[in-house]
Amino acid sequence: TRPVVAIVGRPNVGKSTLVNRIIGRREAVVQDIPGVTRDRISYDASWNGRDFVVVDTGGWASDAKGMAARIAEQAELAINAADVVVLVVDATVGTLDEDEAVVEVLRRSKKPTVLAANKVDDQKTELEAATMWNLGLGQPWPVSAIHGRGSGDLLDAIVEAL
Ligand code: GDP
Ligand code: MG
Repeated sequence: TRPVVAIVGRPNVGKSTLVNRIIGRREAVVQDIPGVTRDRISYDASWNGRDFVVVDTGGWASDAKGMAARIAEQAELAINAADVVVLVVDATVGTLDEDEAVVEVLRRSKKPTVLAANKVDDQKTELEAATMWNLGLGQPWPVSAIHGRGSGDLLDAIVEAL
């Protein structure tokens, strides 16, 4: 069976856009407004001859629970079912409480993790991406899911972690 790569992170960091980049199609639902539900979240993908399943997360509706807690809870489910986890953060915004909540879950899981610093659309934003070393999850891979910048290096790192 194919190994599972889960894409986690708070809403709007570009998880679904990155999933589309990884699968080379536009099937994951990209939304400006967080909280969109969808039924299909697993997609077959391959890179450098390695086949895997990529799982998009985050199609849950927000409820009375705190947003950070809700995100962490959903991330935990995805992380438990994954062989490798890709944490996506938005390099143009920096880290928020919601990011920290997911990082906590990830640390406890001890799963191999690849850190994607997304929305690095240009050279200038790479400096922002470097601040993500602070999360303590190793090297942040600067990527622009929307334009494809850096996605090859990120995919190399993902496949290496499988
Ligand atoms: P998700 O909630 O984490 O799945 O995020 P989405 O993939 O739905 O993207 C949220 C918003 O960020 C959308 O407006 C995307 O077009 C935008 N976005 C995603 N990736 C990038 C990127 O690399 N650069 C820029 N500038 N915007 C991006
Ligand atoms: Mg999404």
